[in-house]
Amino acid sequence: METYHHFINGSFLEPANGEWLDSTDPYLGTPWARIARGNAADADKAVAAASAAFHGEWGAMSATKRGKVMMRLADLVKANAKRLAEIEVRDNGKLLSEMTGQLFYHPEWWRYYAGLADKIEGSVTPIDKPDMMAFTRHEPLGVVAALTAWNSPLLFIAWKCAPALAAGCTVVVKPSEFASVSTLEFAKLTKEAGFPDGVFNVITGLGPEAGAALVDHPDVAKISFTGSDTTGAHIYAQAAKSMKRVSLELGGKSPNIVFEDADLELAAEGVISGIFAASGQTCMAGSRLLVQNSIREEFTQMVIERASKARKGNPMLPETDIGPVTTPPQYQKVLDYIDIAKTEGATCVLGGGPVAPGELPGDQFVEPTIFTDVRPDMRIAQEEVFGPVLSVIGFEDEDDAIRIANDTIYGLAAGVWTESMDRAFRMTSAIKSGTVWVNAYRVISYMMPFGGMKQSGIGRESGIEAIKEYLETKSVWFSYARKK
Ligand code: NAD
Repeated sequence: METYHHFINGSFLEPANGEWLDSTDPYLGTPWARIARGNAADADKAVAAASAAFHGEWGAMSATKRGKVMMRLADLVKANAKRLAEIEVRDNGKLLSEMTGQLFYHPEWWRYYAGLADKIEGSVTPIDKPDMMAFTRHEPLGVVAALTAWNSPLLFIAWKCAPALAAGCTVVVKPSEFASVSTLEFAKLTKEAGFPDGVFNVITGLGPEAGAALVDHPDVAKISFTGSDTTGAHIYAQAAKSMKRVSLELGGKSPNIVFEDADLELAAEGVISGIFAASGQTCMAGSRLLVQNSIREEFTQMVIERASKARKGNPMLPETDIGPVTTPPQYQKVLDYIDIAKTEGATCVLGGGPVAPGELPGDQFVEPTIFTDVRPDMRIAQEEVFGPVLSVIGFEDEDDAIRIANDTIYGLAAGVWTESMDRAFRMTSAIKSGTVWVNAYRVISYMMPFGGMKQSGIGRESGIEAIKEYLETKSVWFSYARKK
């Protein structure tokens, strides 16, 4: 078992209380690494280092030079992409093919925001007062605490830390206690790339201990959080006490809406990858299939056929389609929701339980599961499962589809499958979600903002506007009136 320390001020440090946590391989069900169990004393050290770097070397560095360091980091991530992807799979059990793709794409965020670093411009306003001139400056917020979930730890670092560092902030990352190792390996690359000590720090540990200490810390200016809505709401309330800036990337119950005029083969593939990729453990999972009643039987059958062929197994192997659920509490939660759906009267037409004991190592596999006869008001249609469970809901026409699609507390993403451009445009404006894909699903880019409407979150990540999440606007006024 390898042991991983906190990364503070450019060095690896033992936890203040000498306590450790195991990191478990979800496929094998065995611990494979040890991480530090951080507390408020560790958070203090990390924030002090980040604060010193913000007020010191990083703050004094020109934006162009900051960008160059970020470019070097992008190259290092690319050179280490395969190794980092394998580490993520050991921690979260997602498919190596998916994590490798993510890691090779990851450097683009660093390149994009490196290029943006020296293009942050204020503006001169032709002001309505005589003999005065006014302009705006965009200044970095300060120390950012980045709290991340276990499903794509390094992608979230790219989404948060690349714009934060380009803006001139410094960061303390607290990764999920279930998947911290890749973040610590990534920290080594920040040192190699030439980031000054204290610019990028990592403390590990439990949310209510290490995470909460960062949220409450008086020298943290902003919390950038990815995780569950329950934790997000708690952090939002805590942060309000000291009026900290907050970005929240939370959950979803995203609809994949299939009309009778869609290319059904294409739509079936999109629905399958939308819910069963990563065993449903993505915030943007298309967990509700809304299908027009005229094609409901035929299309549902197409989806069942494809899903029943999915191969469960070792996430490291290229032939595997479905890996384990990442954490024991998450595994139990998925099974509980399957029971809830059955009790509510939904019909289970595929899967509907755990994989038989002994069939695979570990104990965290759930069969790809499909429910039909789901009513929009059932809990299985309203609440995030975060597992390989698809709810099929029929609709009559466009208005009906829009009503059902928008009838949850969430608004993260949606897919629309149709060959009619008019309908596609009407749907993209009517659906209340941060992202709408037409004839596609689960596509992301460093260039496109991503985030939630309603209770799916606050703020946006990626794209030009994400850098504003880490900047404060200052208005500066000059009088050039003649002295009397
Ligand atoms: P989680 O809320 O349990 O944990 C997220 C992070 O917050 C972890 O680092 C955790 O240690 C920390 N944390 C927990 N309690 C805390 C507290 N009291 N104070 C400070 N920090 C605390 O979420 P999870 O189970 O790791 O992730 C799954 C959730 O993440 C799902 O709901 C999913 O939809 C969401 N998610 C959202 C996006 C998005 O971009 N919108 C992406 C991926 C995952």
